[in-house]
Amino acid sequence: MMNIYDKRQIRCATCGREIGEVDDDARILFSRCGSCDGAKSGENEVFRYLTERFETTVKNVLVTR
Ligand SMILES: [Zn+2]
Repeated sequence: MMNIYDKRQIRCATCGREIGEVDDDARILFSRCGSCDGAKSGENEVFRYLTERFETTVKNVLVTR
């Protein structure tokens, strides 16, 4: 079991569907579920997508600053 108190629920920015959970200190902006993003559905796909999205967000923040 995961400790839910250290996790935050992530919902699709488009349809509001629950995608998954991330660490509470992680920042996920404009996350989308697999169907809204046109990607394959599946937990592994979603997790990989979230990871890539998070890395992209971090890079964007660093570049912007
Ligand atoms: Zn969606």
